[in-house]
Amino acid sequence: MIPYGNQNIAQDDIDAVVAVLKSSHLTQGPTVREFEAALCDYTSAKYAQAMCNATAALHAACLALDVTNDDIVWTSPNTFVASANCARYCGAKIDFVDIDSKTGNICINALNEKLKQAKTQKELPKVLIPVHFAGQSCDMEAISQLSKLYGFKVIEDASHALGGKYNNLPVGSGKYSDITVFSFHPVKMITTGEGGAALTNDQFLFEKIKLFANHGIERSGDFPGWYYQQTCLGYNFRMPDINAALGLNQLKKVDHWVFKRNEIARFYKKHLQQLNIEYLDIETSALCSYHLFVIKVHPDCRKAVYEALKDHGIGVQIHYIPVHTQPDIAAELPQVPFLPNVESYYERCISLPIFPHLTIENREYVMTTLAKLKQLKVLY
Ligand SMILES: *Cc1c(COP(=O)(O)O)cnc(C)c1O
Repeated sequence: MIPYGNQNIAQDDIDAVVAVLKSSHLTQGPTVREFEAALCDYTSAKYAQAMCNATAALHAACLALDVTNDDIVWTSPNTFVASANCARYCGAKIDFVDIDSKTGNICINALNEKLKQAKTQKELPKVLIPVHFAGQSCDMEAISQLSKLYGFKVIEDASHALGGKYNNLPVGSGKYSDITVFSFHPVKMITTGEGGAALTNDQFLFEKIKLFANHGIERSGDFPGWYYQQTCLGYNFRMPDINAALGLNQLKKVDHWVFKRNEIARFYKKHLQQLNIEYLDIETSALCSYHLFVIKVHPDCRKAVYEALKDHGIGVQIHYIPVHTQPDIAAELPQVPFLPNVESYYERCISLPIFPHLTIENREYVMTTLAKLKQLKVLY
């Protein structure tokens, strides 16, 4: 089966991990700090805290922005459940903004309208979590302007978008948001096994993120060496050095991988145009990292196409089941939100295989299989 996404581990990655295994620090050593510095260097963010996964990083980001059970947090319904759960861990209410079905990202018009309404009802969100779906940045300039107008904070869920750009700035630069979160799960742009990071340009927020990721424990130079104080309820969200060593080595390759993924996307698009099959648009403001490559087919044939591709050994996936329809999350919503774009998008989407080392033969096989399904009228 050709997977839809796959990690790329080379001998130099293995060597980097082995070097840490043979060193004195498996965790809380120098490699995590080096990885964080490399993330700052790459994105031009001032501060980075590496953590055990992006879900924890999103949670710590919400805590640092003082999200509590008095608050409302908004996110995209076209995402993984973690983008919503991070707010729920803090006791906050969650709500969803419909997407632009051309990009899969939060729709700025829908956001604008929802904010106007929320203002009159005195139910404005404390935090908005836009998700850079498939690796394409949301319209962060518009989101940043709205955040100033309505007074909410912004956490970018950039789990898909390491290596992407927006307005020629690396995703994670923090120019348009308070905090940016990356995931280093094996299907994402680079991997640390499990892992994530929160980046910010705000020292105060960074100190808080660090505190929540380290048991709420602070050490101060004014006290003897053994002394520490727990000043809030924190967690152990730390990333081990073993994992950071992998991330540090992988990060060197991310630009090349984004290039390879874009090459595959161009190849797919050329063939999909000939086959008259729709795919997601990329705005001119964005360089998409192409974590995912999504096509859109007629809802009546989606299941058959999905199954036929699987039968042909092509490991397609669906991104995503709209989060507001997940039973545990829907049960908490005061009413079922009306989000027509994400619902129609969900009935049509299929993610094709895309990863840097997807062979030319396999790329061609994916396209010839789609052509065959089109000819057989399985796909329409
Ligand atoms: C993968 C992913 C996460 C969670 O990342 P983990 O590192 O697995 O916790 C959160 N949000 C989005 C959009 C993701 O794709």
